[in-house]
Amino acid sequence: MDVIERVKNGKPLGKEALAEIVNGYLSGTVSKERMTAFLRAICAFGLSEEDTVLLTEVMLESGERLSFKPRKYPYADKHSTGGVADSTTLIIAPIVASCGVPFLKMSGRKLGHTGGTIDKLECFEGLLTEMSVEEAECVVDRVGAAVIAQTKELVPADKALYKLRDETDTVKSLPLIASSVVSKKLASGAEVLVLDVKTGVGAFMESVTEADSLAKLMVHILKSAGKKAAAMLSDMNSPLGEGVGGVMEVIDAIEVLEGKRSRLRDLSVAIAGKIISLAKELSDEDGVKEAASALETGSALAKLREIVAAQGGSLSLFKGETRERILSKQAGTVPAKQTGYVRRIDCVRLGLLAREFEKDGGYGMTVSAKVGSAVTKEHPLVRLYSETQASAEMLSALSSCFEITEQRLSPDPLIYRIVT
Ligand code: URA
Repeated sequence: MDVIERVKNGKPLGKEALAEIVNGYLSGTVSKERMTAFLRAICAFGLSEEDTVLLTEVMLESGERLSFKPRKYPYADKHSTGGVADSTTLIIAPIVASCGVPFLKMSGRKLGHTGGTIDKLECFEGLLTEMSVEEAECVVDRVGAAVIAQTKELVPADKALYKLRDETDTVKSLPLIASSVVSKKLASGAEVLVLDVKTGVGAFMESVTEADSLAKLMVHILKSAGKKAAAMLSDMNSPLGEGVGGVMEVIDAIEVLEGKRSRLRDLSVAIAGKIISLAKELSDEDGVKEAASALETGSALAKLREIVAAQGGSLSLFKGETRERILSKQAGTVPAKQTGYVRRIDCVRLGLLAREFEKDGGYGMTVSAKVGSAVTKEHPLVRLYSETQASAEMLSALSSCFEITEQRLSPDPLIYRIVT
């Protein structure tokens, strides 16, 4: 039976059939249409755990596996399954590095409605993300951390499928996300891996149950491969930070490093703390204490400056502009339609609108409200930043992303659970 038919009928695929279609797509013998049909079948009918592990292996074997010279503490990495206003990497990398744990991360670009770390890093004027692993390791030698674009040698199968999934709306699938994330993490050479698995309306896995299954499967595969791994199930019913869209997310991350208190800060400290505790074999509490202290003493901010400079960028210029100038370019606001409590935020739509706004030359936006926030009529929920005024259509589309109720609501938890 054909491999696509097998998926549709819930029959096992086996490594040979998986390798044939994935490697065939890479070499050009399997067409884009056939690969899309295969991805669509997996989105609709799923894949067994055994075939998901085999797909992960096939993807991993499509490229090289990195290893690094031994250091006092093992190399660490983190990965988010993708959310809106999620600039945690820009906070976690400097925290972890300033606590002495080497951090080397290969990041991706925007996927669906979610932002990509590489797009954010490219907002720092002059910063290089296209680097070889050897060059990145030299940056880690000098400053303790590097964040670069996924090289073409690292899981080329994921690189090709990631792009196709973004184009064909085949992102939302537990086996596809698990194989994509885990193959990259196994290839990345890090020994300590903390995954941030988002759940909620703005996540690829909406329910806590689905996100929990994804987290458990990914942690299980990573630990079976000998890694120290954990996953946090974190909330994506609201944008995580305030900045949405490249530069605004970068500015948000810097503000956290400068001392701003927010959910973005709290999740970054929790993830960095977990990484530090796994790498240094400390209790979770001590890991979190070290992470928080790196923020409070300003050493994480100083470290980000070093990392950005070591990659050729500048912390004071974003796309050729200063932070002050960008923040002075308010191009419209979206006021609350009534007084009450935010019941729902359509994070997917918000993320896609932010992508569109950026594509049209906007810097991005800030979203101050979270689910459960008390708002007053006319108070701005969103502020847009651009050289030109935001269109009435954009403002109205953004406004429709928010549902407000008179009923008092309690905010969603930030972290639902930790899978170890
Ligand atoms: N992040 C990834 O790396 N892959 C996915 O499929 C989804 C999020």
